[in-house]
Amino acid sequence: MITRFAPSPTGPLHLGHAYSALMAQDMATATGGQFLLRIEDIDQTRVRPEWEAQIFEDLHWLGLSWPQPVMRQSERLARYSEKLDWLWAGHHVFACTCSRRDVLDALAAPQEGADLPTGPDGVIYPGTCRSNQAISANEHAPKDAALRLLMTSAVAQSCFSFHETGHGPNGETGLIEFTAEDAIRDIGDIVLARRYMGTSYHLSVVLDDAAQDVTHVVRGEDLFEATKIHVILQKLMGLPTPIYHHHQLIRDGAGKRLAKRDDARAIAKYRTEGASPDDVRRIVGL
Ligand code: GLU
Repeated sequence: MITRFAPSPTGPLHLGHAYSALMAQDMATATGGQFLLRIEDIDQTRVRPEWEAQIFEDLHWLGLSWPQPVMRQSERLARYSEKLDWLWAGHHVFACTCSRRDVLDALAAPQEGADLPTGPDGVIYPGTCRSNQAISANEHAPKDAALRLLMTSAVAQSCFSFHETGHGPNGETGLIEFTAEDAIRDIGDIVLARRYMGTSYHLSVVLDDAAQDVTHVVRGEDLFEATKIHVILQKLMGLPTPIYHHHQLIRDGAGKRLAKRDDARAIAKYRTEGASPDDVRRIVGL
């Protein structure tokens, strides 16, 4: 079994991250497998080296260890770009120049979230730019526009499935199935490469989990629906689908899920206040 923890260095790790990372390591260790760390730093406007340094420190303090060198997404942009060229040439993505406002206007919506059909990646795209596609097969994908997945072309089969050993937000577990029609209706043409960024969370996570031979993806249940996007991308690009283990989110006393700005629940805070790694394990219920 190969598991991983894949934090973004955009803020301090909190108890929810500790829970996820410890669970991923415990699962790997219990089976004589391997736990990996990956730094998801594609959003260069938000990542900071000091957050990355603190991630290493916090995780070491918790008792985690991982092989070196650590995979870092910012070093894999060439790989993402190569895949985008392939998707572009195959007419699986199109170039989108819509602003958020343009999308809402096309849906005739006064404001975001106002009873709009919404999927795991936000409002379902109305299709405005769908015809902006490759003209010849040997073009590079454009970088000065967002690239959206053309969902009708991406779903090359009628049924999809993955194995869930944890649970989704509504208790979903076991074999999770969904159809191409579901994906077209409930997910739609999501952004696969943000403008000038050259990738997105969805594209990178799928390519990296495959590149690291991850067999079990352990992460929060808030990503359960996004897993459907990942399964579609894996099939489209001929990659294996790992087993997924979504876990509950750690909440604060008021039942609200923890956020990176919630310094009160930061691992570093517990550490400086004299808590031990075992105390943290106990607090998160491990
Ligand atoms: N970088 C993502 C996050 O911190 C990782 C999500 C995942 O495990 O796939 O939310």
